Amino acid sequence: MRGTADILPDAARTWEWMERRIRDLFRRFHYGEIRTPAFEPTDLFRRSIGEGTDIVNKEMYTFPDRKGRSITLRPEGTAGVVRALIQHRLLEPNVVSKYFYLGPMFRYERPQAGRQRQFHQAGIEIVGSNRPEADVEAVALLRAFFLELGLGEVRFRVNTTGGRAFRPELNRILKQRLAPVKEALCTDCRERFSRNVLRIYDCKVPRCRDEIARLPGIRDLLPESDRDHFESVLRGLERLGISFEIDDRLVRGLDYYTRTIFEAYSDSLGACDALAGGGRYDALFEEMGAGREVPAVGFAVGMERVLQALSGADKLPAFPGPDAFMIRAGAVDCFDVLETADRLRRLGFSVASDLLGKSVKGQFRLADRLGARFALIRGERETESGAYRIKDLQTGEEEQVSETGLAARLGEKLGKRRVSP
Ligand code: AMP
Repeated sequence: MRGTADILPDAARTWEWMERRIRDLFRRFHYGEIRTPAFEPTDLFRRSIGEGTDIVNKEMYTFPDRKGRSITLRPEGTAGVVRALIQHRLLEPNVVSKYFYLGPMFRYERPQAGRQRQFHQAGIEIVGSNRPEADVEAVALLRAFFLELGLGEVRFRVNTTGGRAFRPELNRILKQRLAPVKEALCTDCRERFSRNVLRIYDCKVPRCRDEIARLPGIRDLLPESDRDHFESVLRGLERLGISFEIDDRLVRGLDYYTRTIFEAYSDSLGACDALAGGGRYDALFEEMGAGREVPAVGFAVGMERVLQALSGADKLPAFPGPDAFMIRAGAVDCFDVLETADRLRRLGFSVASDLLGKSVKGQFRLADRLGARFALIRGERETESGAYRIKDLQTGEEEQVSETGLAARLGEKLGKRRVSP
């Protein structure tokens, strides 16, 4: 279906590798996994992402279930995490909890390179701290994420849109500035003007861009406390050696962000496509019914884009073939060979074999195609003496070992190999 993709075995292996690496990284930063449902009541997303956003207005997969309740396939991960933490009463005062998630998200967008209708995000949420350390840890983890996958340093763009308390005033100032030129703005921006004026900063239409260029940077409009928080975040980023660029016109497509926001870009991807985005959302928990303010910060990485960037930078890992391929030569019982393969697999070796009764030549060809490291050959002579011949498929060297010593010898030989990625 348009905007969806099947992940076939070769690609799935890369996905599995990415997921393994990032789970390992999240654990090192001490984040616990949270798995929330792929669908939630529509209202959850309307309230959290915001009524005036493109996601809520145009991109949600929303349908009535059999009882007529409005259901939406999650377009992002934060709303479900917030709901779950409130529902399970996991919000303790003065305690910071840290979560990560991985999984498919759904947005009805126009499919193009790097944009699908079902795509995957990996994300984190740091819940319970309003301090700049939390913002800095989030960005540091995001940098580590790309380093872990071998993508190298990415570019960060950061900005602040101020706290929730100041938002009405910020909106008022922007509206006052834009009112004289309102009629010159595009249709979307005229709509944004009344519903969500901050989003005008994100418009790509040239005539709107001209007006945006004349607006002050968002930071210059904010009160001192918000600017101080941002300055501390910047100092932290510098201290951790994270290179960033301040983009004082950066805004994000989800309404819940307050104060710090950031996006990550890679040169290996199209110029304007972000790999990841995130920021602080200090008011969301309270708005969603937590009963008090629970400050939080998080990000989400687009996994398809990471794959695209890895491929663009020629950094996709190569996977080794099986440790061994069983070769049955001559009148040898197929189950004799299969039994040995089964034993080796249970011991932890990856072992492939032919299930089509191919000729010896055909079996070697298959071993080669799969990239097997060794061939374990069982001919009539080996059967009689209870042995196997181990053939190194890179050097062509052969040696004979007894069946009982096979696993140990194979292990020794493989020990000299590069460890798999
Ligand atoms: P957002 O949840 O909108 O902040 O997006 C975070 C990241 O998810 C983006 O930077 C993209 O890498 C990725 N992303 C968002 N929408 C899509 C999509 N339709 N297809 C693929 N990746 C996406």
